[in-house]
Amino acid sequence: MANFNIDSKKARTYDAIVIGSGISGGWSAKELTERGLKTLVLERGRDVQHIKDYPTTNMMPWEFEHREKLPKEITDANPIASSCYNFKESSAHFFIRDNEHPYVQEKPFDWIRGYQVGGKSLLWARQTQRWSKYDFEGPARDKFAVEWPIGYDDIAPWYSHVEKFAGITGNKDGLDTLPDGEFLMPHELNCVEKYFKEQVSKQYQDRHFIIGRAAHITDPQQIHLDQGRAKCQSRTICERGCPFGGYFSSNASTIPWAMKTGNMTLRPHSVVHSVIYDDKKQKATGVRVIDANTKQMMEFYADVIFVNAAALNTNLILLNSISSRFPNGLGNDSGVLGKYVAFHNYRAHVSAEYEGFLDSTDDGRRPNGGYIPRFRNVYKQETDFLRGYAAGFGASRETYSDQNGIGESLKASLHETKYGNWSVGSHMMGETIPKESNYVALDKDLKDPFGIPQLKISVDYDDNDEKMIKDYVEQITEMFTNAGFKNIKARDGHRKPGNDIHEMGGVRMGKDPKTSMLNKWNQLHACKNVFVTDGASMTSTSTQNPSLTYMAFSARAVDYAVKQMKAKSL
Ligand SMILES: Cc1cc2nc3c(=O)[nH]c(=O)nc-3n(C[C@H](O)[C@H](O)[C@H](O)COP(=O)(O)OP(=O)(O)OC[C@H]3O[C@@H](n4cnc5c(N)ncnc54)[C@H](O)[C@@H]3O)c2cc1C
Ligand code: SF4
Repeated sequence: MANFNIDSKKARTYDAIVIGSGISGGWSAKELTERGLKTLVLERGRDVQHIKDYPTTNMMPWEFEHREKLPKEITDANPIASSCYNFKESSAHFFIRDNEHPYVQEKPFDWIRGYQVGGKSLLWARQTQRWSKYDFEGPARDKFAVEWPIGYDDIAPWYSHVEKFAGITGNKDGLDTLPDGEFLMPHELNCVEKYFKEQVSKQYQDRHFIIGRAAHITDPQQIHLDQGRAKCQSRTICERGCPFGGYFSSNASTIPWAMKTGNMTLRPHSVVHSVIYDDKKQKATGVRVIDANTKQMMEFYADVIFVNAAALNTNLILLNSISSRFPNGLGNDSGVLGKYVAFHNYRAHVSAEYEGFLDSTDDGRRPNGGYIPRFRNVYKQETDFLRGYAAGFGASRETYSDQNGIGESLKASLHETKYGNWSVGSHMMGETIPKESNYVALDKDLKDPFGIPQLKISVDYDDNDEKMIKDYVEQITEMFTNAGFKNIKARDGHRKPGNDIHEMGGVRMGKDPKTSMLNKWNQLHACKNVFVTDGASMTSTSTQNPSLTYMAFSARAVDYAVKQMKAKSL
């Protein structure tokens, strides 16, 4: 019996465990397995294999029972998932259902989740901008949160490393506020967007409008072909999963790559309950897992653990990892675990019309948009609010058809597209300030269907966010007016926090173990063989879409961890 137990334990022992198979977990798995570590990837959801498990990817609109719109009873039953624009008949199978994964909204918070192999990498909008030195220097300069323990130069080589493999389209714009990366051929701006770019650069020295940087293969390199991926066909139905592997997802890229090394074991349906801490060894020895099918608790063991369950679930797992050494959650000597959660302020939009270029259309598709990098408070504090916002910008030609008539004449007029003015639109992407009062914690009484405490989320906007919204509306209105746009309208969509799907923090990096959870290598200060490289680790949020930075953190932390393991100092 004793031998049986030893054998069974051996079979459940690996060099490394990665919790979560989304964007960050996929990268951790790739980098660990490439370095020869036998790696167990634990994923709470089902397996989703590239191409094979994209059931809607080649369907035509008329092949969907509800023409891609979900029936009201489904949207009514899932108000949280429905708040995401991608929760459609063609992609709803990559979202969880609200009632199956409850949490406590102490304050309103849309927690959008995709529980499957690949996580939200199947659903994301693929915008990928690097942070600049001004972003990393923000908290120290403006005296909020804590100082970042790293700067741009520490992460720049790792941005290059992940960009080359993932495939990022973009233009080398030479802006110090938004460093250039290892770009594939850029997408093109349309005529009105080019016109707006000219107007912005004529009228402002410090403002720019550029084509977005996005994880699409516009010009496949050998490394992409080696992954079995091909050129993006600009179908713009990426959220169904892309049979060409035209955009970066864990499913098309990092997970099959890790699998090919022969060093990865992928275990779907494995809900991680907590990390096991051994008081005597003074380190983590493995994880407790609830099998989602049998509800049986099991343990798996490893020398190093990467927690990549996405920001808030990573917080939940660490909070639930209780031992006599860490009664308040793994590594939580400082008491900051779960606190200083932040997000992106996506509330405001400005739209308008342009009456020029009526001889041109924007026929054709482009899975990317335009981008106005942050221009407020970059070099010094100049407004009555801290930090700033980036903004999206796009232009498209309004189309309509005459729907009067009946029979043959109606059919004929529906076929004849008529063009209106150009519509232009912008949305804000504001930095929010991480605060102690924005936190997540375990609910004392409520449990999820696996018996794990439910996460209580208490996160809200503040006065800084309100001032930023006002400034965004004023500045974009001014830029639109200067460009000769007409019928300018501003709107506050009153999105709830979380709806930006860029939730971050709770396990922040920092120099001082008394005020932060992770050191400059994304390693728990107090438990050296546990690394957190997803959004939970973010000390501040900047304005850039965050996932490229999680990829770079994951690759950098694995490189460090494996070197430490080889030196026997982990
Ligand atoms: C519609 C949409 C648009 C977006 N657009 C962009 C964009 O343009 N640019 C950008 O940078 N970001 C974007 N994002 C956000 C982006 O998807 C996330 O930042 C990114 O996926 C986070 O990576 P992650 O590895 O932390 O989490 P995920 O990709 O969510 O992966 C986490 C994985 O962990 C698993 N997991 C969770 N808990 C457990 C547990 N207890 N045990 C085992 N497994 C667990 C989950 O099932 C999941 O598979 C968008 C997201 C959505 C939904
Ligand atoms: S736009 Fe590109 S990446 Fe998206 S589904 Fe189409 S081919 Fe694939």
